[in-house]
Formats: sequence, C-alpha cells, structure tokens
Amino acid sequence: MRGWPPGRVYAVLLSRLGPQGWWPVTPRGGSRPVYRPGRYARPTEGEALEIVLGAILTQNTAWTNVERALASLRAAGATTSASILRADRRRLERLIRSSGYFRQKAARLKIFLEHARRRAPTLRRWLSRPLDALRKDLLSVNGVGPETADSILLYAGGRPVFVVDAYTLRIGRRIGWFSGEGYDDAQRYLVRRLPRSVTVYQEFHALVVALAKYFCRTEPVCVGCPIREGCGHGSRS
Ligand code: SF4
Repeated sequence: MRGWPPGRVYAVLLSRLGPQGWWPVTPRGGSRPVYRPGRYARPTEGEALEIVLGAILTQNTAWTNVERALASLRAAGATTSASILRADRRRLERLIRSSGYFRQKAARLKIFLEHARRRAPTLRRWLSRPLDALRKDLLSVNGVGPETADSILLYAGGRPVFVVDAYTLRIGRRIGWFSGEGYDDAQRYLVRRLPRSVTVYQEFHALVVALAKYFCRTEPVCVGCPIREGCGHGSRS
C-alpha cells in the first residue's frame, strides 16, 4: 500500500500535533532556545546566526546537548559571527564541548562563518542570493552536507527548500512513499507533492521529527499514531 499522499499526512499531523515552532531560537533576554509555534517571520541576523550554529552543532548529537552549547556561547558573549571568528580556538572548543566532536565542530563553525564573511557583509544578505548557486556554495563548505545546507536555507534563510533527514526517510518508507534511501530522491518526491511554501516545509519537517519522537521510533508505536490509517506499515500491523 502506498499510503496517504504527503499533503494529507501533513494536514493530519498539523491538526493532531499542532504547529511545532521550529527552528527554536533564544528570545531577547533569554538564555536558551525556545520553540515559537505559529511564528514564521524571516529570522533576524542574530536568529539566523543561532540557527546556523545549531544546524552545525546538532550533527551527530541530541538537541539537548546543542542547547547547552548555545547557552554557553551566549553566556560568554559569543553571539555574533565576528565574536566567534575572533574567539580563540581552544576557548570555542570549551564553550561547545557539550555538543560532542567539539574540536571538529569548532573548526567547522569558524570555517563556515569565514566562508560567509567572504561572501557578504551579513548572513541574511548571503542567504538571500539566488537559490541554486547558494545551495551549491553552502555544500562546498567543509562539514556541510545536504541536510545541514537545507536546514540553514529553510530556517535561517527563509528559503523554500525541503529538508530531508533520517526520520523523513524512515517514515516515508513505512508509509509507502518511496523505498530507497536517497536524499535527493526523497526530496524530489516530496517537493512535487507539496505546495512550494516555506511555512509548509518548515512545519512538515518539524512534524516528521515529532512523529518520529512520539510514534514512528526505531520500533514503531503504531497504536495511537495519527496517520496509522494512511500508513502502509501501520495499517498492516
Ligand atoms: S508509527 Fe506506525 S503507523 Fe505511524 S507512521 Fe510509523 S509505521 Fe506508520
């Protein structure tokens, strides 16, 4: 069974789980990132930077570890691209230690921000460039793969780029949308079937993550899953 089409899955998940408020950013005067359901405004420069940092720091680690690293950076006053570029490497490594692979990630943060600084005076300006060339440019940065690049484009840049992750592939296979594991194939499949909308793409990705957290785990908990009726795997189990 092929399962419900992506648009129907999206509508049901949104109505059952609600807007997810991705990507979480630290509010003015706050110390940690928070989710902001229903807010879809393009991020400010400071918010875009925090999203970029989070997208790189979250590689191979849980988000709770990233939150601690972002809180440490904020407490240390490392809240601008310039301050992170100026920071001594060892100090930066200490500040982001909780996110794991901290030496590699400190190097990647500096490489990314230096790359951005050479391209444009602000992240917002850089992330406003023509999309295809910009995505290629992002993918040319050491440590930036398709998921990181697309997360930055969608959430930091407010650009209509669909983010695929391991949960999207797992859930898509179980529903019956696709059988392979390729990032590009899954992205193409979903983009062809959903409205080209930043809001829809932002919510869809976040809802997929929520579904994977609460129901579609490694061992799926299909009883009670909001889309069981429209899922190839769930309707058989
Ligand atoms: S939890 Fe079960 S029913 Fe829900 S999407 Fe995953 S496999 Fe399908």
